[in-house]
Amino acid sequence: MYADDLLIICSDHSKLKLAIEIIKDWSSNNSMILNNNKSGIIEFRPRRSKPSKIFQVKNGVNSFCGIPIVSQYKYLGLTLNPTLQPMQQINSISRKAREIYARICPFLFSAEADTRKNLWQIFILPQIEFVLLFLANENTQYLRKKINQVIFGTFKLFMGLSKNTPNKVTNLLINYDFVQRAYYTQTLSRLKWEARCFSNPLLLPNFRIRKEDNSLSRTPQEFITYTNLFNSYCSRCHCINSFSHLKNFHGFRGPSVEDVLSLIKSFRNKKGNRKFTLNHLKKIIVPLVNVLKSTVVSTRSL
Ligand SMILES: [Zn+2]
Repeated sequence: MYADDLLIICSDHSKLKLAIEIIKDWSSNNSMILNNNKSGIIEFRPRRSKPSKIFQVKNGVNSFCGIPIVSQYKYLGLTLNPTLQPMQQINSISRKAREIYARICPFLFSAEADTRKNLWQIFILPQIEFVLLFLANENTQYLRKKINQVIFGTFKLFMGLSKNTPNKVTNLLINYDFVQRAYYTQTLSRLKWEARCFSNPLLLPNFRIRKEDNSLSRTPQEFITYTNLFNSYCSRCHCINSFSHLKNFHGFRGPSVEDVLSLIKSFRNKKGNRKFTLNHLKKIIVPLVNVLKSTVVSTRSL
């Protein structure tokens, strides 16, 4: 028999010592041994502070009550470090996303935009949601930006969106605000915790955070091609194209990404199956892509 995944949070070392003693006593009373080597103590502290003396290495020994003091600990798949820096976790999401992408790449290549987004929601989003609570209290602007960049990066990879797609456009297509989502998740967890603390099921929140629908459902991949063309390089003016650039300098008269997206939306709820809607939308978007292509190409050739 074994007991696993025990987590204790203490506000100081004397309480920690007491907790360890209680666990050790309980274990020996139940014919069990606490495996010191599979346990770890991690001191959470402010980012700019040093570890407390009691948790520092003394005479080459780095343990407290026989339990090793560690600089990071993997708990239920979440790697925790003393200053709760999220980047390690975030970078591992990015790495995993590239691995998954490499495996499903042959399939993605011929997939429409809605399928690509579905696959991102299936394979990548749960990994982001898993660390959301970890991100909920991340107030450093720089880190928030970095986290967003990684999330956007995985999305662009799956969608086939060019890397220089403006954040405004990516935001529109991803329709996922991790800061807001983290805040909701945290609030819900707090309410559940309070209900448990007071053993009062009446306090249990009866709302669930709704999973976002695929905001790109029934969207053909030509829409992504259209989006990417706006962010191509203008070899005439030596800059990255944009809707306003193509409109103001090269006489482009077609609709913006936002306009095409609302057009797609207006068709989504009409009768007909996915294939029918997709084909219908393709018939509308392909000519737009061609007009945009010729504008971009003509700026290139001049
Ligand atoms: Zn130009």
